[in-house]
Amino acid sequence: MDSSVHLRLRGIVKKFGDFTALDGVSLDIMEGEFFTIVGPSGSGKSTLIRLLVGMDELTEGEIRLHDQRIDQTPANKRPTCMVFQSLALFPHMTVGQNIEFPLKLRKEAPEARRARAEELLDLLRLPLSYYDKRISQCSGGEKQRVALARALAFDPEILFFDEPLSALDYRLRKTLEKELKDLHARTGKTFVYITHSLEEAMVMSDRIAIMREGKFEQIAVADEIYSAPVSRFVAEFMGEVNLFALTAGASGAPESDVLTTRDGVRLESLSPGDRGLLMVRPEYMRFAEDGDVDFSISGKLHGEYALGSRIQYEIETKNGMVTVEKLREDRFTVTEGQDVTVGFDRDNTHFISEAT
Ligand code: ADP
Ligand code: MG
Repeated sequence: MDSSVHLRLRGIVKKFGDFTALDGVSLDIMEGEFFTIVGPSGSGKSTLIRLLVGMDELTEGEIRLHDQRIDQTPANKRPTCMVFQSLALFPHMTVGQNIEFPLKLRKEAPEARRARAEELLDLLRLPLSYYDKRISQCSGGEKQRVALARALAFDPEILFFDEPLSALDYRLRKTLEKELKDLHARTGKTFVYITHSLEEAMVMSDRIAIMREGKFEQIAVADEIYSAPVSRFVAEFMGEVNLFALTAGASGAPESDVLTTRDGVRLESLSPGDRGLLMVRPEYMRFAEDGDVDFSISGKLHGEYALGSRIQYEIETKNGMVTVEKLREDRFTVTEGQDVTVGFDRDNTHFISEAT
């Protein structure tokens, strides 16, 4: 086995009675990787992480840590594995006592414990004076940092996170996302992170796995998942998207009932007889007043929405609602109900083939 593979999952199945929560999951997580599993609520993310840390038993399959099989090893005997949850802090203890808890379990000397706790406070950018502070006096963000410091005090080979930021407000979440990414870089540890937030996944991860009904639908780097999703599900899960049904004629030329195609336009990814969906992210759509786009569609402006630095336009077309996004400074002047034509160029598209 490739020595840089840290965690290897093969054919993992988890059943609860008749219900299959995980339906054959395989994956290699590399040493030092920040690996994120994203998926809607109920798709099996927590079930998977519980198996990985040993909180539950799998029905089929195997888990290997480096070369060693660990799926039969009880949680407290696994050389790794700590799920970070702020809720698990001891509220009646100080910050220092919380961080030192794992070190005390290992019977380390008080001076060594204190020295390590101070190092970890520093790593998590908490003032040293916090050592004597009570958990109950810490803010939400500080508690998250203390919980992280304590998880690191266990010195696990891999850190597991199950939606640690989902209860925090937007600003704090944004800050901690960046701090987690930074912490990952500074510790060099392997992080396995679960979230239902695509944004969180995109900010932090090396690679992302998209989970759907107990299976991985796609595993790739963030950029690829965003720009080249393998299915409608992934495309729609990874943000706003326009999808148009498209087929290839006998000559391989694109044919569509909804789009007007400029003469001679070809798509490299299209072979004769293909059928599928042509995907365009809203930021690549534009208003085509002068017909200089490869593909276009007409409709009526339904609404205009300001999203901070960006503006979104929704256009009612025979393909349903089409979304166009522009930067605020490039605002396009249109009025509701106005007839418009919008379009895009082939270089900004991705073809999702529907194998028949
Ligand atoms: P996620 O974390 O992606 O939201 P979960 O892994 O918690 O999803 O749950 C996946 C599915 O497995 C859900 O349908 C859930 O109801 C079911 N499930 C999870 N744990 C149990 C259990 N202990 N008993 C029965 N069903 C469970
Ligand atoms: Mg969950």
